[in-house]
Amino acid sequence: MNIPKTPTVPFRFPSTTPITHRKVAVIGAGAAGLVAARELRSEGHSVVVFEREKQIGGTWIYNPNTESDPLGVEPTRNIIHSSLYASLRTNLSREVMGFREYPFVAVDKGDRDPRRFPGHREVLEYLNDFMGEFELGGLVRFGTEVKHVGLMEGGKWKVRSRKRSDGGEDDDEVYDAVVVVNGHYTEPRIAEIPGIDMWPGKQIHSHNYRVPDPFRDQIVVLIGSSSSAVDISVEIAGVAKEVHISSRTAMDEAFGKLHRYNNIHLHSVIESVQQDGTVVFRDESAVCGDMIVHCTGYKYHFPFLKTNDIVTVDDNRVGPLYKHIFPPVLAPLLSFVGLPWKVAPFPLVEFQSKWIAGSLSGRISLPTPEEMMKDVEAFYASLEASGIPKRYTHKMGNYQFEYNDWLAAECGCPPSEEWRKEMYHATSKNKKARPETYRDEWEDQHLVEQAQKDFQKFLSKAGHSSCM
Ligand SMILES: Cc1cc2nc3c(=O)[nH]c(=O)nc-3n(C[C@H](O)[C@H](O)[C@H](O)COP(=O)(O)OP(=O)(O)OC[C@H]3O[C@@H](n4cnc5c(N)ncnc54)[C@H](O)[C@@H]3O)c2cc1C
Repeated sequence: MNIPKTPTVPFRFPSTTPITHRKVAVIGAGAAGLVAARELRSEGHSVVVFEREKQIGGTWIYNPNTESDPLGVEPTRNIIHSSLYASLRTNLSREVMGFREYPFVAVDKGDRDPRRFPGHREVLEYLNDFMGEFELGGLVRFGTEVKHVGLMEGGKWKVRSRKRSDGGEDDDEVYDAVVVVNGHYTEPRIAEIPGIDMWPGKQIHSHNYRVPDPFRDQIVVLIGSSSSAVDISVEIAGVAKEVHISSRTAMDEAFGKLHRYNNIHLHSVIESVQQDGTVVFRDESAVCGDMIVHCTGYKYHFPFLKTNDIVTVDDNRVGPLYKHIFPPVLAPLLSFVGLPWKVAPFPLVEFQSKWIAGSLSGRISLPTPEEMMKDVEAFYASLEASGIPKRYTHKMGNYQFEYNDWLAAECGCPPSEEWRKEMYHATSKNKKARPETYRDEWEDQHLVEQAQKDFQKFLSKAGHSSCM
């Protein structure tokens, strides 16, 4: 999908405003929260990172337990933050995936995973290395959940948090600015299927998928075609009787049994399901299934955020947000990091964080709220004109590099490296051609060599910003 370009408000840089140092609350210590903390502190702000878990890493903390509601829709369920499954390896190469100023290079230590597409534990190790290298741990309040973030008169923010071990004592504090980085892969999105309430089989969302064992000898219908859907369907096919994939994007000529497997079948979207267990697909094929796995994505969710409806989530559009980051009338004192998806998130959140940090200090000037609002409206109008549904507002894909480069220019940083762009596309192509083996067989070794050469300049001056 091509996201249309939007007219861009000319920026003014550098600003003549004197540098301001602000007291900033960062909500979440995943990859995005950590890099936001680093950039904010480098800019001279005073930073507190709230993290409800006892460690950093967010998504990358594997939890073998699952939620009490396997579909993840029951509001009173026990919430488990991470959606990782046991076998997960990264779907981006470590060169593309890593922060620009702290490359994700293989570490030559006994229990580290040096593979180019490593297992999930290696990413958590990398994030811990990042925290250690930049001494960010002292900024994080672990085991502290933010319960409420509210706009106060005068434009400051009340942040109410609670220590999870504390027997329920609330702590209220006032901050100049809030950066929201609470992740967006925890609240499942479920496809609407006629008849599903009466369907007798078991259903889970991929958020609660960990290992294939519960699918042994079952007939499984899996909805979706994302990277996780591909991994999970292949893994389940190793133990299940049959796996039937329902895909919105597959071409008609691809429907039927996949030639590489004995037991994986590709279908169109589901038309309806019936009380006797039958699942009917739009291409008129049907199967009597035992289980449905919904690999149907996630919803943005900010249960703590109260902005007097200045920011809303409508059909998964968080808005209005200028460049997916600032609500125009609250900029720069409220910001969101990491909303864009189908991207290489680490470099993207690094650029977003630099822009926020510079805007908060006044070193980087934002357009006026009216100009920002006009830009947002033009963006929404262009999505509509291209027939792109609201729920894809933050979906970027190939447009991410243009977006990153725009942010980089705003911050006075060089654009994304050419090898990174080429490698991203090479991996996407390779993944399509060999979905099960792309992590171990590739043809872009020349780009790996370019990346490694490029990394030397960051490895030799870790701790310094490349934009200086
Ligand atoms: C299955 C899966 C596979 C993925 N694979 C890849 C991959 O291969 N490569 C890649 O680059 N990306 C991948 N991603 C994307 C991944 O989510 C990002 O890499 C990145 O980890 C997102 O970081 P984040 O900081 O935005 O969010 P998270 O990592 O989700 O961190 C958010 C943090 O906020 C905390 N939090 C939430 N609410 C509160 C609150 N109220 N108070 C205090 N703390 C709170 C959470 O505990 C968490 O620590 C994958 C995602 C999924 C779900």
